[in-house]
Amino acid sequence: MGKGIKMEFAKKKDSGDAVFHVSKLQKSDNENLGCRYCGADIQYVSAHTRGASKTPVSAHLKLWQDAEHRNSCGYSVKGAVEFLVADSKSVENTNPIFVLQNDGSYLFRMNILIDAQKVAQNITESGGRFESSEHLSTRRNYIRSEEQLASYFRSAAGIVKLRSLIQESSDVEELKRLVKIQYKNGFISWNDFYYDDTRYHILFNRLAKGNLPHPVAVSVTLKGTVGLNKEARYFPWSFQCYSQINEENKKRRVYIPRLQLAKESLHRSMSDGETFLIVGDAWSNKVKDDFSIFRSFNISVYNKSQFKKELDAE
Ligand SMILES: [Zn+2]
Repeated sequence: MGKGIKMEFAKKKDSGDAVFHVSKLQKSDNENLGCRYCGADIQYVSAHTRGASKTPVSAHLKLWQDAEHRNSCGYSVKGAVEFLVADSKSVENTNPIFVLQNDGSYLFRMNILIDAQKVAQNITESGGRFESSEHLSTRRNYIRSEEQLASYFRSAAGIVKLRSLIQESSDVEELKRLVKIQYKNGFISWNDFYYDDTRYHILFNRLAKGNLPHPVAVSVTLKGTVGLNKEARYFPWSFQCYSQINEENKKRRVYIPRLQLAKESLHRSMSDGETFLIVGDAWSNKVKDDFSIFRSFNISVYNKSQFKKELDAE
């Protein structure tokens, strides 16, 4: 049995059914906290920093060592997947991004995400107007409304958020069993799709070789403030993120993600120190100076449903 996922809400055992956001809790509440869905014992983890890059980690909640969520609790991996799939079905009924298989697992259809990315890009490049359905029509003509487009991104960002909230390998294995990523006529692994700050170097190297033909999901923690470049054609705003500092053959390398934002409204909900999951197309910057230790790459964001905060606000 896995340890479930990072949580942002809990009940206090001495306060009945009231649900508390992590921002209203503190270390001294430990021993008094229960899962909001199943009552399992959970604990408060204070904010701290991680690794050589000193990346901030927000305060959050997790299970105590020997505690377990009940079967299909919304904070277990299986429960969270079921919840997400049910939520996405309501909008995507004719062409869902998740498809139930005979063995009880779900297909996650990367091909739909690729089309959604293209449509979002077309809408932006045509001036952001949303007058006719032509920009929403791909060759298969199934993305018919902006609501449906947003729903595809929301579903993709949701499953990626779940991946990032998982804390241990047995739960990662369960997610891999439950959700298989279909691409063209085969499958790709979760490792080809999802990159956190322990694997930026792998993403950068794949991008530099030009062999990533599909969108990727990246966990990033924002650093500093949004930048504006008025000359930029498609992405005037950008946000730098905390890096991965890696030792390779005794050489230090610093891998830095940057979000490239097509609209000003996209950065209104983003601020320094927050961790986000982003689903989008990525590309690496050319290394102009071989002696430089810096390696940077970008992820494009056209639609606000392409990203989710790792931990929801209150
Ligand atoms: Zn629970």
